[in-house]
Amino acid sequence: MDERKYVVEIKDLEVEYRTDSGVVHALNGFEMKLEKGKTLGLVGESGCGKSTMGRAILRLHEPTSGHVYFQGEDVLTFDKAKMKHMRRDMQIVFQDPFASLNPRMTVGQIIGEGLTSHGIYKRGDPAMKEYIMKVMEDCGLASYMFNRYPHQFSGGQRQRIGIARSLALSPKFVVCDEAVSALDVSIQSQILNLLSELREKAGLTYLFITHDLSVVKYISDRICVMYLGNMVELSESEELFKHTYHPYTEALLSAIPTTEEDNGGRERILLEGDIPSPVNPPSGCKFHTRCANCMARCKVEEPQQREVEPGHFVVCHLYDK
Ligand code: SF4
Repeated sequence: MDERKYVVEIKDLEVEYRTDSGVVHALNGFEMKLEKGKTLGLVGESGCGKSTMGRAILRLHEPTSGHVYFQGEDVLTFDKAKMKHMRRDMQIVFQDPFASLNPRMTVGQIIGEGLTSHGIYKRGDPAMKEYIMKVMEDCGLASYMFNRYPHQFSGGQRQRIGIARSLALSPKFVVCDEAVSALDVSIQSQILNLLSELREKAGLTYLFITHDLSVVKYISDRICVMYLGNMVELSESEELFKHTYHPYTEALLSAIPTTEEDNGGRERILLEGDIPSPVNPPSGCKFHTRCANCMARCKVEEPQQREVEPGHFVVCHLYDK
């Protein structure tokens, strides 16, 4: 891997886990590279494995097999101590800011917790308070909020606290897992702007996970569309919206509420049914049970990845040479 260009490289990543209904195949040999200082949007319906992916990279969910290279080193080979050290560089911002903030801790304590546990500051160090204030200011939180508790804040402010907590550690890579999904549309754009500003300032790399293609459009440099544990399409963000190849991406894009002028004349494609169970995924192309373009071979033969334009990859038999 070119470590100057890519911060994270995922190879052959498999995640399986056992439930009462059987073995869930959440990720099936996933491959992906994240470029330094850029945002990769990871999109798909709920249950497609995108959150599992974010957690597997950080080993919050232990992968079954594969590799996650962070700056050239495979984090899946790390012991506990090395992984703890690495977590400083690899952070996560969760969907539900309220559930992820300890209600008995003040904002200052929440943001400072990681700083003391990683030994960056000693508890009570006045320099730490100064530093936390600076991080709060960067994240749009006023200094008087330092001694307040999470329940005293709105959803948008709580998400700012969650972001401040992650970014206080000066990470290099951040997983944003549905980070704006619980917020009102107007607050969503404020948080997206904040994340973009912080990325520019600190040269961060983001994996931005969402079910909402319209959200990811504004923050991502590249977009990866996922279906049932596999990548189905990957390209530069603008290119994906201009030239959509995969029938699943087409359906997701057609569902974005938009004005007639800027939807490129797309007709709404209704996806039949729910995403199938990852316990017993369909044979061949996993999307065949819902695809309007399904051919006989799609039911039995797994499609391979094709580069349909430079840097634009699609996994669908329609583009077999
Ligand atoms: Fe549809 Fe076949 Fe392409 Fe799968 S491989 S998306 S079923 S056309």
